[in-house]
Amino acid sequence: MDITHIEHIGIAVRNIEEQLPYYEDVLGLKCYNIETVEDQKVKTAFFKVGQTKIELLEPTSEDSTIAKFIERRGEGVHHIAYATKSVKAALKKADEKGLRLIDKEPRKGAEGLNIAFLHPKSTGSVLTEFCEHPEE
Ligand code: ZN
Repeated sequence: MDITHIEHIGIAVRNIEEQLPYYEDVLGLKCYNIETVEDQKVKTAFFKVGQTKIELLEPTSEDSTIAKFIERRGEGVHHIAYATKSVKAALKKADEKGLRLIDKEPRKGAEGLNIAFLHPKSTGSVLTEFCEHPEE
């Protein structure tokens, strides 16, 4: 699948502002981007940790999948995102191996990345994302 590194770890939070002091003042990370992804009904905040990022996910609507996740499981780690050279190729391989796909085709995620999710039923209950930087 040409996975190069963990692109980011997604963490579901009720409120990004409330979590900033932990990430910025305690861990000493810098939030370099906050953006809302309308079609996912989520507000995201990003911190760089070396090559990997932490992505905080705050629901912007009660019917957001993040709101539902927090309702069921509370705040916490939501997904792991692997950087791959080709999301399309990674999806094809996952499909061939019989894994359940949430996205059959790559779509646009935060930061303009091409992304796709695998269903946690096929991945030991870890919601798994593939990410590809379009310029790479
Ligand atoms: Zn993500």
